[in-house]
Amino acid sequence: MGNKGILLVVSGFSGAGKGTVIKELIHRYDNYALSISATTRSPREGESDGREYFFKTKEAFEQMISEDALIEYACYVGNYYGTPKAYVEEQLSLGKDVILEIEVQGAWKVKKQFPDTLLLFLSPPDARTLRERLVKRGTESAEVIESRLSRASQEAEGIEVYDYFIINDNLNECVESIHQIIQAEHSRTFRNQKLIHTIQVELKEFQKG
Ligand code: 5GP
Repeated sequence: MGNKGILLVVSGFSGAGKGTVIKELIHRYDNYALSISATTRSPREGESDGREYFFKTKEAFEQMISEDALIEYACYVGNYYGTPKAYVEEQLSLGKDVILEIEVQGAWKVKKQFPDTLLLFLSPPDARTLRERLVKRGTESAEVIESRLSRASQEAEGIEVYDYFIINDNLNECVESIHQIIQAEHSRTFRNQKLIHTIQVELKEFQKG
């Protein structure tokens, strides 16, 4: 891995506040890069192409699949969502910790391809808060909210594969605890093999001398 950054997946139920937490994390610390996904869903009010998502037609998305331009993709409540490969690879090689804000299916696929990926799952304190946040956001129809809640129930079954489960009750605490987890993760022995090897070799050299 050398000085490569960590690939991070942040998942969470729709309405868990992932977007806000990630935005704040990036605002406070400069070691993070956020991957911008491609999607076939329509932009919400205030969203713009290339900022929240690369908004694509179904045909253009399928073209990206056939060109192998995506690390992973999944279908979520009737739309495609996928992670473009080039940006992620570039930022990791520059030493940035790259955040993928993706759902559970995608997280599994990334972990399978890149076993060193750190998986974080963000949740509101309870199911009722989740529902309230979705309704309050007011960006989706009642029907879509119901589909997202039903999807959340399915996703709740997949949480065990994640490395960390983090409650987003207080924004500041949540951001800081995620940052601390990632900082600690940088010190894991398996992420520092090269450095450890160098020190071992140097110590052996001393003995010879
Ligand atoms: P939303 O429509 O609310 O922006 O996103 C719906 C879901 O799709 C969220 O759980 C979000 O994390 C997930 N998502 C966003 N981008 C990607 C992606 O590139 N790949 C996958 N697998 N899921 C994504």
